[in-house]
Amino acid sequence: MYLAELTFKVIADTDFSSAEAAIRRYIETLIFNGQLLGREFPTAWQQDRFASRVVLPATDALLQKHHSPAAMFALQQLAAAGLAYPQCQTLGMDLMSPHTDPCQQARSYILYSRFSDTCSPLRCAEHLAPVPLYQIPARDGDHQQLIRWQLQYQALDEIQMQQNRVLRKTAERSLQQLHSRLNRQGRQLARQLEQASGAAVYYALYSGSSTDCAAERNKSCPGCGGNWRLAEPLHQRFDFQCEPCRLLGNIAWDCQSPSAEQGDS
Ligand SMILES: [Zn+2]
Ligand SMILES: [Zn+2]
Repeated sequence: MYLAELTFKVIADTDFSSAEAAIRRYIETLIFNGQLLGREFPTAWQQDRFASRVVLPATDALLQKHHSPAAMFALQQLAAAGLAYPQCQTLGMDLMSPHTDPCQQARSYILYSRFSDTCSPLRCAEHLAPVPLYQIPARDGDHQQLIRWQLQYQALDEIQMQQNRVLRKTAERSLQQLHSRLNRQGRQLARQLEQASGAAVYYALYSGSSTDCAAERNKSCPGCGGNWRLAEPLHQRFDFQCEPCRLLGNIAWDCQSPSAEQGDS
């Protein structure tokens, strides 16, 4: 990922609020298409220009050929707010975020997100590296639905990772149960991505705790009831994979502690 500065030169009479609104609309459409990452874009007014700090998944992410129809419209609206088309200056590699997938086209994908991620939820299955969403054709013009799903997923994951958890069970159930609203949405989005990309998209089903650690290692696929245990964990993270259900899973984290293993033997 790359840290960059977008500058919007003031070219006509404008006021702070209309310029700010036009910049916000434009940048948000880029976020909803996966051309920019994260949710925050600190912006400064520097006399004859506005400057925004943004994170790009690839150096060419902002090319207009990657824009959604909404982004093209927002780009044109900048002029109405007295602003020129933005100039983008890459400042360098972002040390805080993972590297974008090196594959030209991944052979299969994993839909996977955790609370601390600042990247695309679509990962290459071979490298587990994030794939920029704008590279995948979007069904509804952009990837807004997927980004909004990721925001909710991360918010719930954040809640259930805290020491003094509020809503712990509610958050964990949403992440862990195959038929929770969150996971139904996520799997539906994974199917759409599979249709759009023509490559298999697996959904990573999170497992944090279990009521029966002894049975956890041999649990069956929650989708079809079949045996889905892998001989070797994938990416040291997924112990289970079901091809027809397009699911990946893990031995519940709470059952992987040394004390839980003793109870298992
Ligand atoms: Zn890859
Ligand atoms: Zn299955």
